[in-house]
Amino acid sequence: MTEVERHSYDVVVIGAGGAGLRAVIEARQRGLSVAVVCKSLFGKAHTVMAEGGCAASMGNANPNDGWQVHFRDTMRGGKFLNNWRMAELHAREAPERVWELETYGALFDRTADGRISQRNFGGHTYPRLAHVGDRTGLELIRTMQQKIVSLQQQDYAAHGDYEAKLKVFGECTITELLTQDGAVAGAFGYWRESGRFVLFESPAVVLATGGIGKSFTVTSNSWEYTGDGHALALRAGADLINMEFVQFHPTGMVWPPSVKGILVTEGVRGDGGVLRNSEGERFMFRYVPDVFKGQYAETEEEADRWYEDPDNNRRTPDLLPRDEVARAINTEVKEGRGSPHGGVFLDIASRMSSEEIRRRLPSMYHQFRELADVDITAEPMEVGPTCHYVMGGIEVDPDTASSGVPGLFAAGECSGGMHGSNRLGGNSLSDLLVFGRRAGLGAADYVDSLDSRPSVSEVDVAVAARAALAPFDPPRDGLRAENPYTLQTELQQCMNELVGIIRTAPEIETALERLDAIRERIRGVAVEGHRQYNPGWHLALDLRNMLIVSECVARAALRRTESRGGHTRDDHPRLDSRWRNTLLVCSADDREAPVPRVEVTAKEQVPMRDDLFSLFELTELEKYYTDDELADHPERTA
Ligand code: FAD
Repeated sequence: MTEVERHSYDVVVIGAGGAGLRAVIEARQRGLSVAVVCKSLFGKAHTVMAEGGCAASMGNANPNDGWQVHFRDTMRGGKFLNNWRMAELHAREAPERVWELETYGALFDRTADGRISQRNFGGHTYPRLAHVGDRTGLELIRTMQQKIVSLQQQDYAAHGDYEAKLKVFGECTITELLTQDGAVAGAFGYWRESGRFVLFESPAVVLATGGIGKSFTVTSNSWEYTGDGHALALRAGADLINMEFVQFHPTGMVWPPSVKGILVTEGVRGDGGVLRNSEGERFMFRYVPDVFKGQYAETEEEADRWYEDPDNNRRTPDLLPRDEVARAINTEVKEGRGSPHGGVFLDIASRMSSEEIRRRLPSMYHQFRELADVDITAEPMEVGPTCHYVMGGIEVDPDTASSGVPGLFAAGECSGGMHGSNRLGGNSLSDLLVFGRRAGLGAADYVDSLDSRPSVSEVDVAVAARAALAPFDPPRDGLRAENPYTLQTELQQCMNELVGIIRTAPEIETALERLDAIRERIRGVAVEGHRQYNPGWHLALDLRNMLIVSECVARAALRRTESRGGHTRDDHPRLDSRWRNTLLVCSADDREAPVPRVEVTAKEQVPMRDDLFSLFELTELEKYYTDDELADHPERTA
């Protein structure tokens, strides 16, 4: 029998980014025993890379800000497809979560009078992003880790063991969720260094595994973003929603090729940087879409005045939501007005002093200096769209973060609904804090409510171990041996070229055919060597997840015959209000299969509560809703 290391916890959190750590803290503070498992080193989660800041309507930079304004901005950014209850909870609770971080030891940048400073970002009416220079995510993770250490010290004082109630399992990848009668019973995985198997028996699992960006060639995401949580949930019986919505951040590096896709923070534009094409034109003024007409400056003079006097001027269209800016850059390049390396120019050098740039954007200064030999205080950057964030994810109950599978919870980028069709910058870090906490609470309440706990079946453990070891077996059924790296490259190219920023039905159909072929070839994937640190083997296992999420994106993208947020169909270029209320739900056809096929069904969202609905002008709602949906609106019936 395969040797498996065993542990038992009340709650297992998979993922040690912002969402995972906040869930851990909450569940542990409720008195439960908690394990946090992460496939990278502890402290190296993707959240660390977050630069610009964390959106919360504290009103420090402009007293007119408040949760209602943040809620409205988030719904507009998501083109009214957001789960409105999540958007409401997020807007209401984000300020408290930011302040709470300071009680853990975080220190955000300050205004002159000592309050938390807030910066401008795309789609936010007021300066709203609490930040620590351009290293905000690092501060989030640092302070939550510090909080975890302090909780462990309390445990030492009480139990003589730092890890009595909270233990970190770093560099440990989960490959299967185990269930009994449909409810979560545990999670199975392997230590990356030794390859040895490990089993966590637990009635509650919180997925906080982040995104899916590694399914695309050009991405700002790190190696971890292979959609593991999305795939684990799907295979355990949960649904994914909104998978057609993938955010292409408008400003990734385009040169040199080795760093293509690395993010250039929106903070550059928030702090005054502007986009120009090869003719020197500030082209964004030509790309304000109808739904945002009247809300953005129409001249360069007004846009520039807005930075100093936001109450009497409209904001620059350089700060339109990301989907709009990414599409505009794409068009400029396609029409021949791009920069030498296939992007456009982002100019901060001519807008502020060299000292100011280095003070406000230290990481950007070093990033360009070291990676591209460009001095951003003296010359413009070249930037272009890069796959950045997935709006789609595990469908959860907004208040408890529970999925459709009893005992399975999700928070952060791997969950879906909060951001609708497009996320506003800064709304992820606040999402992690708000819903990470709620997931920890939800899991704790669930565990407390159980009379008995599901148990892990030994058969399921043996099946999980066999599936994990399959890449070491010679291919069967006459299949050719396949190299995981080759398959990964083909999958990334397929998604990047055919289901990328602009899509058409024939392209997506071709992508689905190619993904089908990759599915067949994955059965023959074979790796050499043994289980001790073997990156080829790790990739072979991750590939299954990448394929599942890619199929979700492609199938949902084919089905949605309109353009909205992070989903642009060249053959259906307009936003269609008949689609606004429709969620496309991905589920697995055969949960036992390592790579099940994906089925997509449509369902309607719950209508928005009246008090929230009344926060919007009828004239704005008319841009998104159908006449039927607005028939009972008080202004129409009056
Ligand atoms: P992560 O922080 O990625 O954590 C995922 C965790 O899951 C990791 O610990 C990983 O090891 C673990 N994991 C994954 N799979 C497994 C598995 N199978 N087994 C075990 N562990 C697993 N958002 C903002 O709001 N503001 C910003 O300024 C901002 N800047 C950004 C800059 C960059 C360069 C990037 C890439 C993103 C930025 N974002 C920003 C987005 C934001 O950082 C992410 O959406 C967010 O950090 C995701 O957090 P998370 O907790 O969901 O996942």
